[in-house]
Amino acid sequence: MTQPNLPLTGACLCGAVQLHVTAFPLLTLACHCRDCQKLAASAYSLTVMFPAEAVTATGELVLGGKHSEERKHYYCPTCLSFVLSRLKAAPDRVNLRASLLDDLTWFTPFVEIMTEE
Ligand SMILES: [Zn+2]
Ligand SMILES: [Zn+2]
Repeated sequence: MTQPNLPLTGACLCGAVQLHVTAFPLLTLACHCRDCQKLAASAYSLTVMFPAEAVTATGELVLGGKHSEERKHYYCPTCLSFVLSRLKAAPDRVNLRASLLDDLTWFTPFVEIMTEE
């Protein structure tokens, strides 16, 4: 996997949520599941998993999507961009929506999930 230059920066569509990442990604993935298609309003979603302590999101985030105790999806309350997810099973990780990063030239999905579920 090609590694990005650190720190990585990004923002939601309106810029109210600013992202700053100081660690290399643990995993990159493209998920084609039906939930991701609906969450992203697209054919698939692109996710980068980072160590939670390396990710700073400034600005307000609100819960959205099909969230539960196990799986929390956070959105910008102004432009409603899907920003990141936190899983209860992996509290030390953050799943960031890759498309929000300023530089994506390094990104290739390490895992591609094609399931119908
Ligand atoms: Zn926004
Ligand atoms: Zn998915």
